[in-house]
Amino acid sequence: MKYGYRLSKLNEVKNIALIAHDSKKSELIEWVQKHEKPLAPHKLAGTGTTANLIEQHTKLSVKGFKSGPLGGDLQVGAAIAEEEIDLMIFFWDPLEAQPHDPDVKALLRIAALYDIPVAPNKATADFIISSRFFNDEYERKIVTKEFHPITLK
Ligand code: PGA
Repeated sequence: MKYGYRLSKLNEVKNIALIAHDSKKSELIEWVQKHEKPLAPHKLAGTGTTANLIEQHTKLSVKGFKSGPLGGDLQVGAAIAEEEIDLMIFFWDPLEAQPHDPDVKALLRIAALYDIPVAPNKATADFIISSRFFNDEYERKIVTKEFHPITLK
């Protein structure tokens, strides 16, 4: 199979997905509270419970997808494939198996494929939010596939 690349711009104002597994929710909420000001100009979305909790504990508005175990991770993955999510802060739990582990794997795969920045923990999230690209344009590289005609018998 032949693959190519094309460039796709992440704009100054970013569509940011925020997700945390249950054991990581308080850590994510604290991180969002700490960075409420730099996050405010961006467009935020998240899986159901995470999005709700962030709205309850900050002044930010967060578009809610379904809850992760009910398909929310796959919805976020689909949004990444549609180029509607530019950056993902996803504090997943490295110590507990999740009922929706296959969905988590799919989401992380799509995020890698679409070349978006992903933070699996606070340190990476801190690095991302202090990067100049957080408020600047960035050209990411998206894999494309060359389609070949199939000869039918
Ligand atoms: P939740 O989903 O925000 O609805 O809890 C997160 C997840 O488990 O992926």
